[in-house]
Amino acid sequence: MARHAWLVYEGIILRNVYADLHIHIGSAGGRAVKITASRKMDLHAVLYEAAPRKGLDMVGIVDAGSTLVSAEIEDMLKTGELREHPRGGMMARNGVLLIPACEVESREGVHLIIYLPYLHSIKSYQKYMRSRIKNRALSTQKARVSVAELINLSFVLEGIFCPAHAFTPHKGVYGIWTRRLADKLGRDAGQIRALELGLSADTNMADMIGETRNYTFLSNSDAHSAGNIGREYNLLRMADKNFEEFRYCLENSQGRRVLANYGMDPLLGKYHRSYCTRCSTISSDEPPALSCSNCGNEKVVMGVYDRIIEIRDRQEAQHPVGRPPYKYRVPLKDLPGVGPKLQEKLLSFFFDEINILEKASIDDIERVAGEKVAAQIARMRVGRLAINPGGGGKYGRVKKE
Ligand SMILES: [Zn+2]
Ligand SMILES: [Zn+2]
Repeated sequence: MARHAWLVYEGIILRNVYADLHIHIGSAGGRAVKITASRKMDLHAVLYEAAPRKGLDMVGIVDAGSTLVSAEIEDMLKTGELREHPRGGMMARNGVLLIPACEVESREGVHLIIYLPYLHSIKSYQKYMRSRIKNRALSTQKARVSVAELINLSFVLEGIFCPAHAFTPHKGVYGIWTRRLADKLGRDAGQIRALELGLSADTNMADMIGETRNYTFLSNSDAHSAGNIGREYNLLRMADKNFEEFRYCLENSQGRRVLANYGMDPLLGKYHRSYCTRCSTISSDEPPALSCSNCGNEKVVMGVYDRIIEIRDRQEAQHPVGRPPYKYRVPLKDLPGVGPKLQEKLLSFFFDEINILEKASIDDIERVAGEKVAAQIARMRVGRLAINPGGGGKYGRVKKE
């Protein structure tokens, strides 16, 4: 299905668009926006270097609510480095579409993203937050606002609301707040269209919770450094790159849709299984592991897998009609045998990383990178690579054969 780069739907040509919609900005105007992010990650570098290198057509910048980042966006709109699209979103000169967004921590302690179409919507968001967030220059700040109020705010601003990394013990809605969004939000849960899976979850895990059938899944990188941009991404089918088309995709409307989610194998995630902070054991017990079988500690950091098993209402994943496939991907730099030199060589032949991972012929890759690397990419395209699992805050790694 995704093999064709375009499709005609009721006379409209629809194209394939690769998008990573959760990227953090390290600095803007020479000042830090996100303390844990690389200072080199400014807006210009994301749009004009990292995105094309990865092969992304569309990027969601989740720090657009920061006063430093919005000032930078405004400057770039003035100089013509960005141009506001009449149907929302902002186009860079190289054709990469910026979707501005704000990741915020609600009163309940969970992370939510609001995607916004225009500069004036960012300003309205900031105005609303003025009395509710302490440090408005920084990323993902705690706001004195509830989840329900944020859903409402998103609606008023004609934005798109999306719970971030929904299953993680680190501030995910299902991870720490509730077993069912409908229990906490009632009818407001019906306003939600999108849900971000996060690095430690995939579609099979998320579809063990029945109510998620109403949500379109997004797989995004949550990158804090250039190297991590696009470690997860989505393939969208839309008529034109702009905010309105993005909304159609999430609503499965008019032939627009998410065609596939590309993400890390959950086994590679930092929080896949429960972890004991007292004796540093990563659980291998039957899930859900609620305590440590090594030292008896009752307060373990719940793994994403353990949490989903604990709260699921289906024994097996039940995918709703039209649920896109989830494809397991490992960034080029994390494949065994691919050092920085080979990575550069591959990029000079094939232009961008997504082209290498998804499109280039395996024979051509073999000619540049050798049999072993080509075989890994071939295997990755159709299945899963063998993994040494992550846990306790450390990422897993692909097994060397
Ligand atoms: Zn977050
Ligand atoms: Zn984030």
